[in-house]
Amino acid sequence: MVENQIVARGIQDPLVIQAMTQVPRHLFVSEALVDSAYGDFPLPIGEGQTISQPFIIAEMTQSLCLNGSERVLEIGTGSGYQAAVLSRIVYKVYTIERNHTLYLQTRRLFDRMKYHNIVTRYSDGTQGWKAEGPYDAIMVTAGGNQIPAPLVDQLDMGGRLVMPVGGHHSQELIRLEKTKTGIKTTNLGGCRFVKLIGEHGWRE
Ligand code: SAH
Repeated sequence: MVENQIVARGIQDPLVIQAMTQVPRHLFVSEALVDSAYGDFPLPIGEGQTISQPFIIAEMTQSLCLNGSERVLEIGTGSGYQAAVLSRIVYKVYTIERNHTLYLQTRRLFDRMKYHNIVTRYSDGTQGWKAEGPYDAIMVTAGGNQIPAPLVDQLDMGGRLVMPVGGHHSQELIRLEKTKTGIKTTNLGGCRFVKLIGEHGWRE
């Protein structure tokens, strides 16, 4: 998977390549999907949600320009795969999920896998997690029509945020950087994510 889908398509960050080689993706999907876990496509994870295609995970992770010392906030824990990849790179991962079933299931999985530098929370991630901020990087793994203002507030100076922004059915992957001279945004290209639902996202 890492050679054919990630390195072959231009992902070069050694920390991202190493983390994706380490994390066993098949443990984050249901037993029925184990044989497809390393395929070049997204997969259903229950509750109408999906785990992204491996290349998208790699691209979003690389776009955060991580060096290992960071505290990162992820919105949309889902299966936990993205948080697991981040946790192999950075100091600490804070991840928020609004679906209670997925929240409980994935929290147990992190315990079983001894991913002790991941902290989970059951709430509306569009409001961020102010008490633990500011964060060096923020990743939103569900699509909204705008970047939630509380997340930009909770990003440290010099921090990076990546999120799919657009309509209900397709979005653009937007990378934002908070600099002393203002907010810089870059469009990384088209993508398709499930909906970000919450106060600063879509209505249910
Ligand atoms: N990062 C996940 C992707 C899961 S899909 C993975 O690696 O598997 C997106 C997830 O975002 C879903 O689980 C959905 O329930 C969750 N979500 C949607 N809106 C949310 C919100 N406002 N706060 C927290 N989680 C949210």
